[in-house]
Amino acid sequence: MADGARDSFRRFSGAWAALAALVVALALSIAMLPHLERLFVDEVRERNEAALRLAVEGLSGTLSRFEAFPALIAERPALAELLEAPEDEALRVRVSAQFSEDTRALGASDVYLMDRTGLTIAASSYLKDRSFVGRSFDYRPYFADAVKGGLGRFFALGTTSRERGYYYAAPVLRGDEVLGVVAVKFTVEEFEAAWQGGENDLLVSDLDNIVFMSNRPDWHFRTLQPLDREARARIERDRQYPLERLEPLDHVTSFRWGGEVIDIAGAPSPFLVSRLPIPEAGWQVHVLTPVAPALAQARVALVAVLLALLVLAMVGLVIRQRRLRLLDRIETQRTQQDVLERRVAERTGDLNEANQQLTLEVQERRATETRLKTTQQELIQAGKLAALGQMSAALSHEFNQPLAAIKSYSDNAATFLERGRLPETGENLQRISRLVDRMAEISQHLRSFARRPKDQTGPVPLAAALDDALALVDMRLRQQNAVVARDIPEGEVWVTGGRVRLVQVIVNLLTNALDAMTGMTDPRIEISLSQDASDAVLRVRDHGPGLAGDAMGQAFDPFFTTKDPGKGLGLGLSISYNIVRDFDGRLEVANHPEGGAVFTLSLPRAQSVQEAV
Ligand code: ADP
Repeated sequence: MADGARDSFRRFSGAWAALAALVVALALSIAMLPHLERLFVDEVRERNEAALRLAVEGLSGTLSRFEAFPALIAERPALAELLEAPEDEALRVRVSAQFSEDTRALGASDVYLMDRTGLTIAASSYLKDRSFVGRSFDYRPYFADAVKGGLGRFFALGTTSRERGYYYAAPVLRGDEVLGVVAVKFTVEEFEAAWQGGENDLLVSDLDNIVFMSNRPDWHFRTLQPLDREARARIERDRQYPLERLEPLDHVTSFRWGGEVIDIAGAPSPFLVSRLPIPEAGWQVHVLTPVAPALAQARVALVAVLLALLVLAMVGLVIRQRRLRLLDRIETQRTQQDVLERRVAERTGDLNEANQQLTLEVQERRATETRLKTTQQELIQAGKLAALGQMSAALSHEFNQPLAAIKSYSDNAATFLERGRLPETGENLQRISRLVDRMAEISQHLRSFARRPKDQTGPVPLAAALDDALALVDMRLRQQNAVVARDIPEGEVWVTGGRVRLVQVIVNLLTNALDAMTGMTDPRIEISLSQDASDAVLRVRDHGPGLAGDAMGQAFDPFFTTKDPGKGLGLGLSISYNIVRDFDGRLEVANHPEGGAVFTLSLPRAQSVQEAV
């Protein structure tokens, strides 16, 4: 698979995986909702039960506290006295005032004293408009209980006060005789006020399932169960509750979210219910909490979880995306680097190869150069030896001829002397003398040639050097019948150089000219000498074939020769060239327009006339 296709597949599958994970998370979350709701409802139930326990403890604590009060009050002697002498107005006022004090001290709403018939003879409300004094409560069960010597307790809507209250009653005794009944009434508003404002609603129902206490006034006197006839008759007889207000609370009880739930008509939310009885009072305390907030919380939590998952998925996606991009970049960089490295390697390879090639070539050149130098040295040596050989041959020829002539002249002179022919003898001796002079002359040249040439340069008489050279090649000139035409100015021309080497150069030019004209019938060499302000110029022209193209280019190269093997070494011009260059002069060759070669030797003119060798 191509890189690009793989990348897009990776991205594509990544997006699908993220989407699938999201769908799964969504499904799981939706499946989780009931559990989540249950979790929150359980929490509510726990709080509900805590509130219930608190309410029950508060209520039963208060009831048991109140329960003791009537018996304590009944023991006061003034009460029995008043019951025995009800006409004692002062006593009645004193007892009533005492009762009034009691209500404040106990937090009760009323304290009152009834005689055996149920008629109230003293009451804490004695000064109020709706005073209990003079009113009969014989119909109340608490009175009936107390007048029988027991403790009475009862919950009812006050017939006088129209307040819901709880009544406790105890008998006032003289010995075993019941003189009357003292009752204490507590209202329930304080409890209800304490229950206001919480998240839950409280209600207290009695044995007939009538709600007589609740923080919600609209629930007061509502029945939780339908009332039977008997109960209705009893309530009417005891004037406990106003019958016209006893209406059923329209509700349905069910079991949901792991507990009991009540749906009340008109209420926006079902209620979670917890119940506890207060057996001594025959009450049932109910705490109701709307479920809706817990359900909403569960949904919010779910949405929060979903959002968190979404955010996580997004973050994951972003991270993944970034990682992919980073990987892409790294990949691209690696590819570029690879390409770069490959190119560098290729170029370095080429360079290395070229380098190696060059090194090899340099080594080869050096080796060749060394070989060349060695060969050159050897050849120069060979050239020198050859020159020496030639020179020896020339010398022996040069000297042998006059020596043979001298021998024959001297033999002839001896013969003429024996015969007494003196004039002929003298003539022969003169010839011998001339021959000796000639040999001396040759020797003279040889001596100057034989002197070890030194490298130093100095003023050299060019015309004289030319004479030396001509003398050295004289024999060859004569052998070839060559004519030397000289165009030399008057007076000596001084140049800078070394005489022996200069003669060597000119000899070389002359012998080359003669070589070029070998076999010609009238060989002719033209030599001219001229000078200007700085240079003296010697020209040697022959009438040979001149130099062919390649010879023209290479005549001064060492070992270039067109002569037969054994005849030429190709060193003459090369050595001459170097000698002339040592003298700061120039040696050039050209073909004469009318045929033949022209060698031009230019040398710097010397300032002094001190001859150098
Ligand atoms: P060699 O004389 O041993 O050949 P040189 O260096 O003196 O060596 O001369 C090199 C070559 O130059 C000769 O072989 C010849 O071909 C050419 N050359 C030199 N002088 C002349 C000349 N005067 N005329 C024609 N060719 C010449």
